[in-house]
Amino acid sequence: MKILANDGISSKGKELLIAAGFTVITDKVEQDQLAKTVNEQGIEMILVRSATTVRKEVIDACPHLKLIGRGGVGMDNIDVAYAREKGITVINTPASSSQSVAELVMGQLFSLARFLNDSYKNMATGDFSTLKKKYAKGMELRGKTIGIIGFGRIGQSLASYALGAGMKVIAVDTSSNSVTISVPVGIDQKVEKIIIPVTDLNEVLNELDFISIHVPKQANGSAVLRAEEFSKMKKGVLIVNASRGGVIDENDLLVALDEGKIGGIALDVYENEPNPRKDLLNHPKIACTPHIGAATLEAQDRIGEELAQLIIGQFGK
Ligand code: NAD
Repeated sequence: MKILANDGISSKGKELLIAAGFTVITDKVEQDQLAKTVNEQGIEMILVRSATTVRKEVIDACPHLKLIGRGGVGMDNIDVAYAREKGITVINTPASSSQSVAELVMGQLFSLARFLNDSYKNMATGDFSTLKKKYAKGMELRGKTIGIIGFGRIGQSLASYALGAGMKVIAVDTSSNSVTISVPVGIDQKVEKIIIPVTDLNEVLNELDFISIHVPKQANGSAVLRAEEFSKMKKGVLIVNASRGGVIDENDLLVALDEGKIGGIALDVYENEPNPRKDLLNHPKIACTPHIGAATLEAQDRIGEELAQLIIGQFGK
């Protein structure tokens, strides 16, 4: 069987599939050529990450498709229900990248707290003493309160890092089931802490020094953080969004940043990917990355391996 891994696959995943008798094609096919290539080359499985979309039109145009695989969590780039209706298997690898996303967020929190993003941009052309003054009011993370909105796999992984950094963690989720977070101490010890998420975000917004959001794209498409939520936050709050574009209203965000309500924000995801609006990218208080939450060698290995094992389990001889 031929597999097109259109957004790439780790060498470990590719090796496992080839060893099991599959042909793996990794030459990137442009979105508008996807259906044509799949049909012409007799491809029966498409593997994607977040870049390639597999919508109804592609599914309808590829009657021999047997499987669509998403390396990662969110499947909003695939018409999952429609594909399954047509008898196509749809798989993803939800847990493989949680730790990598959590580590990116910790990096962004430390970075925002010390204006690193702005400093990197300005050091080559700016005046040293002026910049030194500009960045004089940094903040430590230890002892501060972080609100983690969406307390699933990534939210919980982030909690373990934040607790390890000495932060108070307030979890917010639609479910209030208690969760035991395991915090590694070095490589051979761990400490456990039980966290019970609150279900009403409004109750806690004014307590948070930092906020990181880890919810899926909402079913009704609405934003979780809008002007109303921003108005209830502490002045100068620092925020990270490495979940999905659209869970923060980008227009309201720009207003809250310009009014000084929000001190800074790191964005890894955008409403209009892969062409985010320029006023976000150019904003001095926004630290932007191009959707790289899962982009570590370790996560890519785990993703490729998990996809390969799922495929071999279902379609191997
Ligand atoms: P998950 O399903 O394990 O957890 C999501 C949690 O959010 C659940 O506990 C759910 O109850 C909660 N939730 C949903 N709506 C909510 C709301 N309105 N308010 C409060 N809680 C709410 O998902 P995950 O694996 O932790 O992934 C979280 C997000 O991260 C997804 O959007 C995923 O697409 C994204 N993600 C991004 C990257 C990246 O590269 N930046 C990589 C992987 C995943």
